[in-house]
Amino acid sequence: MHDSHVHIAMSPLRENIQSDIEQFISLNGKKILAQTTNISDYQETIDMVKNLNKKYSNVLDLGLGLHPSRFEDSLEKNNLKDIDLFKYAQKQIDLYEDFFRSNKEHISAIGECGLDYFGMYEYFQFDKEQTEQLKEVQKRAFRKLCQLAMENNIPMSIHSRSQNGDNSCTADALSIIAKEGKGTIRSSFHSYTGSLNMLQKILDMGMYVGFNAIITYPSGDNVREILKKTPLERILFETDGPYLPTQSVRKNKKAQKRYGRPALIKEIIKTAADIKGISYQRLEEISDQNYLTLFSK
Ligand SMILES: [Zn+2]
Repeated sequence: MHDSHVHIAMSPLRENIQSDIEQFISLNGKKILAQTTNISDYQETIDMVKNLNKKYSNVLDLGLGLHPSRFEDSLEKNNLKDIDLFKYAQKQIDLYEDFFRSNKEHISAIGECGLDYFGMYEYFQFDKEQTEQLKEVQKRAFRKLCQLAMENNIPMSIHSRSQNGDNSCTADALSIIAKEGKGTIRSSFHSYTGSLNMLQKILDMGMYVGFNAIITYPSGDNVREILKKTPLERILFETDGPYLPTQSVRKNKKAQKRYGRPALIKEIIKTAADIKGISYQRLEEISDQNYLTLFSK
């Protein structure tokens, strides 16, 4: 099994990473793709990946990304309302590029990155102009990362999230990928929760889809539908840890570890195998092959 999307430098994964990796390996775990989101986690994640790979025979792959929601987080947290968001964003993009260029040989994926039209409406109260600016800087950053993916032939791990029923975020992301990549960018859509219509477009563009613990939740009907419609050879698994613990962990108030972590992939594959009507072993095998096809150098 593999975990194609996890944040190892985030608490409490960071403090427990050795035992979490050991448990993952003991369950036949083979590969973990560590994602990053902005300058605050690049160096720490890179150092962790290098050190842990010495001990656990290269179990970790590295993703270097720029998460679209980091722009609005900064706008809010640093009270940046008076500064030029475009200048601020350009600085983040430049910092990204520096890290990318100096660590290129260690990078297996560009991620996570993409567009997010969810948080700017749900978590904050930005005015209309700020909202439009946020969308524009997200697009600028994403375009740049797509260009780097294409120039360097590195696959991408893409985040696209919007409010229920709004397809514009995924539509914008797909059109940027198509335009910048000219059909050559290889990628996975992580935690896709949008419409089946858009799913078809994602699949038509040759992309993979990452499934996580949402398929184990009672509220996960729409994602279980997405899984049913996704061909076996396009399925990846992920935890998005430390977020999204599986349903059995959420229910068990006595569980010692209550966060998303690579070992929980086992429960996710079990649930997915039932939904797809195939054996656990077969789904594990196919999805591991998918991971290698997309992310191996
Ligand atoms: Zn993530």
